[in-house]
Amino acid sequence: MTNLATIVSASAQRNPAGVAIKLDDIEISFGALEVLSAKVAGLLAARGVKPGDRVVLISPNLPQMPPLYYGILRYGAVVVPLNPLLKSREVEYHLTDSGATFAFAWEGVMGEVQTAAANTGTQIVPINAELMGLLAQTEANSEIAPADKDDTAVILYTSGTTGKPKGAELTHENLRSNAELSTKLFSMTFEDVIFGGLPFFHVFGQTCALNAAVMAGATVTILPKFDPVKALEIIQRDKVTIFEGVPTMYIALLRTAGRENYDVSSLRVAASGGSALPMEILHEFENTFSATLLEGYGLSETSPVICFNQVDGIRKPGSIGTVVDGAQLKVVDDAGHEVETGVVGEIVASGGYVMKGYWRNPEATAAAIRDGWFFTGDLGRKDEDSVFYIVDRKKDMILRGGYNVYPREVEEVLYEHPAVAEAAVVGKVDDVHGEEIYAAVSLKDGAAGAGDLEALAADIREFVKARVAAYKYPRKVVIMDALPKGPTGKILKREIVIS
Ligand code: AMP
Repeated sequence: MTNLATIVSASAQRNPAGVAIKLDDIEISFGALEVLSAKVAGLLAARGVKPGDRVVLISPNLPQMPPLYYGILRYGAVVVPLNPLLKSREVEYHLTDSGATFAFAWEGVMGEVQTAAANTGTQIVPINAELMGLLAQTEANSEIAPADKDDTAVILYTSGTTGKPKGAELTHENLRSNAELSTKLFSMTFEDVIFGGLPFFHVFGQTCALNAAVMAGATVTILPKFDPVKALEIIQRDKVTIFEGVPTMYIALLRTAGRENYDVSSLRVAASGGSALPMEILHEFENTFSATLLEGYGLSETSPVICFNQVDGIRKPGSIGTVVDGAQLKVVDDAGHEVETGVVGEIVASGGYVMKGYWRNPEATAAAIRDGWFFTGDLGRKDEDSVFYIVDRKKDMILRGGYNVYPREVEEVLYEHPAVAEAAVVGKVDDVHGEEIYAAVSLKDGAAGAGDLEALAADIREFVKARVAAYKYPRKVVIMDALPKGPTGKILKREIVIS
């Protein structure tokens, strides 16, 4: 078993001058990626970080990010990637839960990270223009730490339906094998140019774009913040061959005025995942961009890809395709027994892509992995050709613009507002974001007073907005006399209809 970072040295040996990472006119070759990541490992050693320590990496897709990611791995430390939109209390939760003693933080989030790190005593190195200077003065660490089969490479925070986000522990081998799978599914070669608009802090961008491209010796051309016009410019300028995105990115591309003025003829294949891809979008994209668009399915806990519509295999629009090599999938009933073809149940997965478990959370691990099967929390079915379809999410997660939003987490903040008695956060189908976040609240006695309810609803919305990442706060807060409840007093979210 090898350290995931060896994919960098292997490509650097084969093609040192090949471009690994590109952001406009900044280019990092495979040779430079190797040297820079060795210097990052040297920096960690000099700062007293030990192999096995958790190192937070909080950054959008910037050229510095891959050297940091591979440098941390190379040193034998564990990468904890975080979304740069997190607010300080969220960062603090992740620092505390992961036990990270060290963080690389993009200068754009320093304010939020500094407050959190002051409380947890975490050392921070900013990701800014000076970082390259700092690395230039640092002695490289030429060793690549050996990685055993069960050694954790990355902790990805996910799934907070039962409270706060949990850290999915992915091993070097989990991530390496799933990246290798991506290179095969896309027939990636060193001649490919991959669009890097999916964030690398999320499993989809990390495995299927970054790690797969580095393994294939291909180029990733990055876009730190997705914008459809910029994406079209990049496809044309860099002759992108593989586009990977969430459905909202495809919708945005199709709705961009003047898109026909861009030469996108270099595209040969596109992949969609993360949430359900509407069939109209699939067809419209294939007709407009003359590239095959393949939908796949996976989770942070499965590194991620476990099901995929394959170029040369069976392809069914609207489905998530067939199970990939190296994974096993079943649809089971509530008792965990496999159901018949066509019957809806929970999708469970096993095989080498399934995480080791949730970081320092044996109860959650035991609940998620039973008898060797990982329970995805997604409801689906299998047809007579062994093609899988996702029907609904069992868990209560809202997917807004490709980001997971866990209602419970937002509800907890709502409950902190002095006027709120009860709160429920629900997702509502939305043309632009796939789902939009709404909140229904009832007020504490006397909280309404003689005041303006509309102003109070706006105040509650702003209260949450100030405390959570921008993709999580409710766009609309509705004040109700009482929230609908079932016999046990549980709030019945399905009965909450917000227009
Ligand atoms: P994450 O851990 O952020 O990758 O989120 C995983 C979740 O995304 C899954 O449990 C599904 O609910 C959802 N998901 C991923 N791919 C698809 C897809 N193709 N169709 C529908 N839902 C999907």
